[in-house]
Amino acid sequence: MPRAARPTPALAPAGDAPLTSLRGCGPALAEKLATRGLSTVQDLWLQLPRGYEDRTKIVPIRELQAGAAAQVEGVVEAVEKGFRYRPMLKVAISDDSHGTLVLRFFHFRAAQVAQFQPGTRLRCYGTPRLGPQGLEIVHPSYRVVEPDEALGSVLDPVYPQIEGVAPATLRRLIGLAVDRLPPDAALELLPVEWWADLGLPSLHEALVTVHRPQAGDDIPALLSGRHPAQRRLALEELLAHHLSLRGQRRAHRAHAAPALRDARLANALRDGLPFRLTGAQARVFAEVARDLAQPVPMLRLVQGDVGSGKTVVAAMAALLAVGDGQQAALMAPTELLAEQHLVNLRGWLEPLGVRVAWLAGKVTGKARAKVLAEVASGEAQVVVGTHALMQEGVAFHDLALAIVDEQHRFGVHQRLALVDKGPRARGNVPHQLVMTATPIPRTLAMAAYADLDVSTIDELPPGRTPVTTVVLGADRRPELVERIRRACAEGRQAYWVCTLIDESDEVVARAAQTTFDELTAQLPELRLGFVHGRMRPAEKQAAMLAFKNGDIDLLVATTVIEVGVDVPNASLMIIENAERLGLSQLHQLRGRVGRGSAQSSCVLLYQPPLSQMARERLATMRETNDGFVIAERDLELRGPGELLGTRQTGLAEFRVADLTRDADLMPRVQLLGERIAERAPQLGGRIVARWVGGAVRYASA
Ligand code: ADP
Ligand code: MG
Repeated sequence: MPRAARPTPALAPAGDAPLTSLRGCGPALAEKLATRGLSTVQDLWLQLPRGYEDRTKIVPIRELQAGAAAQVEGVVEAVEKGFRYRPMLKVAISDDSHGTLVLRFFHFRAAQVAQFQPGTRLRCYGTPRLGPQGLEIVHPSYRVVEPDEALGSVLDPVYPQIEGVAPATLRRLIGLAVDRLPPDAALELLPVEWWADLGLPSLHEALVTVHRPQAGDDIPALLSGRHPAQRRLALEELLAHHLSLRGQRRAHRAHAAPALRDARLANALRDGLPFRLTGAQARVFAEVARDLAQPVPMLRLVQGDVGSGKTVVAAMAALLAVGDGQQAALMAPTELLAEQHLVNLRGWLEPLGVRVAWLAGKVTGKARAKVLAEVASGEAQVVVGTHALMQEGVAFHDLALAIVDEQHRFGVHQRLALVDKGPRARGNVPHQLVMTATPIPRTLAMAAYADLDVSTIDELPPGRTPVTTVVLGADRRPELVERIRRACAEGRQAYWVCTLIDESDEVVARAAQTTFDELTAQLPELRLGFVHGRMRPAEKQAAMLAFKNGDIDLLVATTVIEVGVDVPNASLMIIENAERLGLSQLHQLRGRVGRGSAQSSCVLLYQPPLSQMARERLATMRETNDGFVIAERDLELRGPGELLGTRQTGLAEFRVADLTRDADLMPRVQLLGERIAERAPQLGGRIVARWVGGAVRYASA
């Protein structure tokens, strides 16, 4: 049929229909769904369950594990209605395994309370957690049952919640949409011979399986996300993201950037340093310089373990911009870190006659106006600062290079906002150099940073001694006080880090204050300092400086010291409640010691009992100092969303894929991405539109 004049429809015809074509979906409901990007029937096909509830079996209460959702059945033993800070209802149930479980409710009606008569049999579903009296489930779903009531035979899909839409309504609508799934001929986008060897089902079969598991399906596989149906969908989703990033990268590279080729200043800095660059630093700088010499915007991630010496590489890169008569900016996520960069850069660049300006939130009034004028005129050749660099009113004269430190703490949007400060007027965009001490495992780099080139500083400067790490229960604290006493008597310095996660700065500061007071009383002969997040930056800096200058023996601090601090004489670090921190954060903290030639140690104090996950984290810290190994473990234990910061990449928004679990699919994803780019670019657009939405992201960006 002569259809050539019509553009290929981006979506399969049945999938194109609006949601209002589904029975029971009026305009109001459709609008709520639209706010979550669900506007066509196809969008519902791909609104995949984020998990399943397994009501096909009952788990004995004694076998429950914190964090693992399960169905239990038991008889009400006791009911307690309390009112401590807010109303609360506790219902204790027990079963034949002689285990007791607490069901805890914060919202409840009188009718519910009446239901929980001792002796009543309840079947509950929920995720147990460790409460004050053992395992408990907060707000389980439950119902009253008779003994021997039949169990479900299939898994119940659980869909991501949508505000204002009842889960049952959503489930029903998705069911109606799935009824309309067309046969594979109208649904498949990828040529079958490109994936047939993987032994995965067709798209139609895969979608039906994940939305409507059958009694015979492999339940453990589905629950763990490793069912072939889920892998088929993950393959396609990963491919869509990969294609989208490729598209963004291509669009970015279509812009022009200033070619920076005068290396005289950069070389002068290198030759004047009190140390020689490591081989890795020299190699990475050469990679950066090669990119910067091209009239195409660089997008390069420099990753290097804590203390690997990224700053000096950044400074040399900045000098390439200055050497060409243009500007460079260096942005850091915290004021403390930005200030440390300022001190370093001033020390290195000003002797070369380069003007370094400072712009942070606390620079206000006349001082701010002066800096802004210098930035706008180009008089300020290198500008160091915090987010303040991206605020409105900051205009560069000719920004050629934007450097972002500790990139995982910024969102992609912030990164791009700095680039927007570049001289668009001349049709140029600045080069971008992104630095991180949280090494990104390879598979993750492939998926998350398909838009970046990656350089790795995989060597530490010489003369560093590896840090010895020990893990101790909090009851060993008295010994530690003695250990600090000894270390300081030998002229060394120590950190005591107080951590409390999920608490406000104020609560953390108070707890740290208590520790500080105790240690002051126990170690009267030592000079103690105290740094926390509630202090004014000037006070913080004064305390840090006193520590750096050796005027303080023991620095008690909250995790604000995490990044940037460099005190080679500090050889002992104690981290309290280490079980509460993630691996990357522990590694960053530990990187504060072992910077000099003295043998250094890190003591991880924990408060028992340890969860399985915390136990593994602490064991990893004891076993290795290698940031890459730690990052890989972190990825396994926590998943990519947390590792990168959920804001960062949209990775946390994957519908079905999981970068750890599905890592083995990545090489195929890359291969498919290349094949599509070469042979069928329009197909790429359709896959991205289907999975990522907004064909725009693929085409332009
Ligand atoms: P990071 O990669 O964690 O940002 P820094 O750039 O802060 O590390 O460097 C850590 C310390 O190592 C700094 O004091 C820096 O001056 C020093 N340093 C950097 N490169 C070398 C080198 N090649 N040899 C010796 N010391 C170095
Ligand atoms: Mg650094």
